[in-house]
Amino acid sequence: MKLSKMHLRTLREASKEAELESHQLLIRANMIRKEAAGVYTFMPLGWKVVRKIEDIVRYEQDRIGAEELHMPATQPAELWQESGRWYAYGPELWRIQDRNNRDFCLAPTCEEMITNIVKNEVSSYKELPMNFYQIQLKYRDEARPRYGLMRSREFLMKDAYTFDRNKEELDASYEEEYKSYERIFKRCGLNFRVVEADNGAIGGSNSHEFSALSSNGESELVYCESCDMAATVERAACVDEKPIVEEPQELKKVHTPSTKTIKEVCEYLGIDKKKSIKALMFVTYDEELNPSEYVAVFIRGDRELNMVKLVNALDIPEHFIEFADENDMGPATGIVGGFTGPVGLHNCKVVVDSELEGTVNMCTGANEEDYHYTGVCYGRDYKADILTDVKVLEEGAPCPKCGKPVKHTRGIEVGQIFKLGTKYSESLKTYYKDEKGNENVYWMGCYGIGITRTLQAIVDQCHDDKGIIWPISVAPYHVIITLIKPEDEAQKELADRIESELMKNNIEVLVDDRKERAGVKFNDADLIGIPIRITIGKMAGEGKVEYKLRRDSEMSVLTAEEAISSAKKLIEKERFGI
Ligand code: ATP
Ligand code: MG
Repeated sequence: MKLSKMHLRTLREASKEAELESHQLLIRANMIRKEAAGVYTFMPLGWKVVRKIEDIVRYEQDRIGAEELHMPATQPAELWQESGRWYAYGPELWRIQDRNNRDFCLAPTCEEMITNIVKNEVSSYKELPMNFYQIQLKYRDEARPRYGLMRSREFLMKDAYTFDRNKEELDASYEEEYKSYERIFKRCGLNFRVVEADNGAIGGSNSHEFSALSSNGESELVYCESCDMAATVERAACVDEKPIVEEPQELKKVHTPSTKTIKEVCEYLGIDKKKSIKALMFVTYDEELNPSEYVAVFIRGDRELNMVKLVNALDIPEHFIEFADENDMGPATGIVGGFTGPVGLHNCKVVVDSELEGTVNMCTGANEEDYHYTGVCYGRDYKADILTDVKVLEEGAPCPKCGKPVKHTRGIEVGQIFKLGTKYSESLKTYYKDEKGNENVYWMGCYGIGITRTLQAIVDQCHDDKGIIWPISVAPYHVIITLIKPEDEAQKELADRIESELMKNNIEVLVDDRKERAGVKFNDADLIGIPIRITIGKMAGEGKVEYKLRRDSEMSVLTAEEAISSAKKLIEKERFGI
């Protein structure tokens, strides 16, 4: 492919809006262009990379027997109402109406649609297990679309769905997908970690997230170096510290003027934060989004609340809860902003972190301006409606599996797999007939990969100050031949010879034959990240070229034949990425 005939408009700088380097590089390298918040065009080079990633995904999904199909992105509301997610999905679900005011949504995921297809297509156990997948645009009206392809509103996802007869067979299908995902991300050249994850709104029992390790990632991960525990921070269980054994004191109201925070009250009373109870107030909503109840959450003063654990404990979708307005909640429940405690509340659900069970002589707000209680004992002075772990597993806290201190790191969630169980087959009444002719519900799993997020995660991990460094397995072209003087016959001839020789070996070659200064061409080649550069200049007459890998700093002078064979060897070794 001759660059002089292609569109390539690289930029020196990306707009200030692009915060992450990976996002800036994709714009500067002319891979993507923004059209609206979270909506992008893939320019020719970027689209080539998308297709490379898709090829890897297809190969590895086909290999485990998954069958590709293609579902509509426009989906009737009825299906989503039947599963309950028309409400549960919340404002992220992109809702549209047709000219007759019929409701539809743009698919954010396809559990409902695939279950409906299977309901109409399959009836016998003889066809099981089944695994269908597609690579399709997905739509999510994200509250904060940002970081380019990382959190966009229209993005490409590979989504697969398995259908099995029972839990054991679902376990086997899940295991196959798990291994397939490991191969996919390895072949994409990513440094990733698999962690246990929360099932979230999608439902089901087990889940794993595949996270590309990066300080820019939005997923916070917890792992243990002494054992194999690794989980998202939302999911990671905490080990409760045992309560200090003391003689219970009397409940005492003490004057604590202007001490609205845990820090202030602990300093004022000269006590450790561990002896205090922190309060967080929420209001929850019902399906019509009317306020349904107040929730007061209590955790030890030195702990952080884990919202995902709270939402799971309450068994509500995450957008059905928000911080309460203390002016409304106060008169209804007895709380007093800055001085809230669990003693004597009414009309609200009390959620208490499991670590507070058995604690005595704690300090907490007295639900009265400028007063706290001391000597507060769990069970005697207050009780929980829900007593469970709702805190964050902090760095250095004991590992829930082996007790050694855990570490935190960050990652970009590039894929997630879920054991759904029978949630969708039950709600959508989807059955198969077993050997005896009895009807049974399917056991389902679902498996997602963010293709376009993966693309940016690769850039995040593979770049330097000059630009992108694509792994050979996903590079838009394997080789760039940079012609110093494209009008020079000897140079042009050598370029053509090398190009056609490489192409015979299925190697994708870009020839930079533009009438530009050499510096411009080198900068562009580095920016767009082509793995191998063969430069043809003055030595063309002697059949010699410069050979350089994008990832190395050294360059060597080789004969054209040597350069061709080096390129062939390297590409053969790395084109499949494993
Ligand atoms: P997140 O927690 O980042 O919002 P999610 O858990 O809601 O993502 P899934 O429903 O698991 O996402 O979707 C499968 C995959 O699709 C994710 O692992 C991710 O790679 C990708 N993905 C999800 N949301 C987006 C988005 N807004 N932009 C780009 N890719 C996304
Ligand atoms: Mg996910």
